[in-house]
Amino acid sequence: MSKKKILLFYPPGALFQRGEDRCQQNIDDGSAQAMRACNDLGYAAAILLKSGYKVKLQDYQTQRDTFDALLNDMDSFAPDMIMMSITNTTIFDDIKVINELKSKYNPIVVLKGALFFAPEQAMLDMIDFTNVDYLIGGEIDFCIGKIADYCFKGIGNPAEINNILHKDETGKMVPTQFHVWDDDLDSQPFPARQLMNNSLYIRPDTKEPMATIQTARGCPSQCVFCLTPEISGKKVRFRSPQNVLEEMTECYEKFGIRNFFFKADTFTINPEWVKEMCTLIIHSKLHGKIQFTANSRVRPLRKETLALMKKAGCFLVAFGFESGSDKILKAIRKGSTVEENRQAAKWCKEIGLAFWGYFVIGFPWETKEDILLTKKLVMETDPDFIEVTIALPFYGTPMYETCKQENLLEKSVLGSDFFHSSTKGTMYLSLDEVMKLRKNILLGFYLRPKYIFRKLKECISQPGVFVQYVKYGVKLVVNLFK
Ligand code: SF4
Repeated sequence: MSKKKILLFYPPGALFQRGEDRCQQNIDDGSAQAMRACNDLGYAAAILLKSGYKVKLQDYQTQRDTFDALLNDMDSFAPDMIMMSITNTTIFDDIKVINELKSKYNPIVVLKGALFFAPEQAMLDMIDFTNVDYLIGGEIDFCIGKIADYCFKGIGNPAEINNILHKDETGKMVPTQFHVWDDDLDSQPFPARQLMNNSLYIRPDTKEPMATIQTARGCPSQCVFCLTPEISGKKVRFRSPQNVLEEMTECYEKFGIRNFFFKADTFTINPEWVKEMCTLIIHSKLHGKIQFTANSRVRPLRKETLALMKKAGCFLVAFGFESGSDKILKAIRKGSTVEENRQAAKWCKEIGLAFWGYFVIGFPWETKEDILLTKKLVMETDPDFIEVTIALPFYGTPMYETCKQENLLEKSVLGSDFFHSSTKGTMYLSLDEVMKLRKNILLGFYLRPKYIFRKLKECISQPGVFVQYVKYGVKLVVNLFK
């Protein structure tokens, strides 16, 4: 019997971090970020290959392919099943793509996205799922193989596959059990990078390929705007450092990848784990040949953890500072203080470790004074790069409930993103005022002569990096004025 064929893809169109469920960030409208690897598709491909399916993986959006390229693949590959990653912002366009493919080729259709994690019926009712067969809200690597085995081998029962929705006999999407997570991350195969176009996913400054390596899943914090505790759980599930190093070694030896993004909701949450990971790298044959970046909270954090990360090859750490107002940090349940934000920045400067500052404005409780305190913190901490996003009340977050109660939702959250908010603004500021303050912070930060001179000095001997900085600078200014 010939093997069943499955096409896994991101559709053509604007760039979104479709593989990063907690943020699903709009890349085209942001400042200095690049698309990260499509690990969700890569994990799904690895599982399906292991089960004996023929798999094709395509990231049409990052390849800047047209819809015709997708149609060509549908013609030549003739998949029995297609699986697409969707986002909160693109869902209506994504459904249009599916409708066209289903009517022309009639494959089994699976959609995957955080939107489908224990979803409210009222939200589901806004989307036309006529041409969709399964929705995956949970971690794809623990669902997709079971769905394919049921469809093609008659093994199992969709009602017993956790964290998905399937259709009942009336055609209604029904959820299975949610809020259950698999712990054994080491047992999962590595993403099928042999099917991924690894050169598409680059380190923003050097343009070298950068692999995303998921080191842990879940976060014990309770930030009111974040999807992670809901979709990945409050318990942190770690991979073993040995397993992570094996994946890095495979990337280096098989695919020539020397740069890594360690994807964890909070990489530094367990200092002992970080110590073991960094020590392993330092004593491995990769040390000195690879570099990595990672996300961090400012609490818990130790200066020696940052120093060890730098020694192991960390070239940049990204902090979710969020706000310069203690009142707001408390309201959003960040579990950290402005002083801890300052401390983290100071440690990085002392160690000589570059850092990103992520800031969010437009929370329901924010006044102009609060946002100006954030601006003050931006200037004081003086990160290497910053992004300022507008608070987005994703479905399933406590912030969504607050916005609903306070009548701050202008329109459905579906279709909006961090730069095109669905809110009317805060309880004290209009959305227009919040947007103007965002522009003011970003221009005030990036256009400082001191900052421009510092960055020029850093890349004087690296013309390629200089070109990238100029490119991102122009993009930022264009985005802010368009
Ligand atoms: S620290 Fe907060 S923002 Fe970061 S992953 Fe955890 S809950 Fe989300």
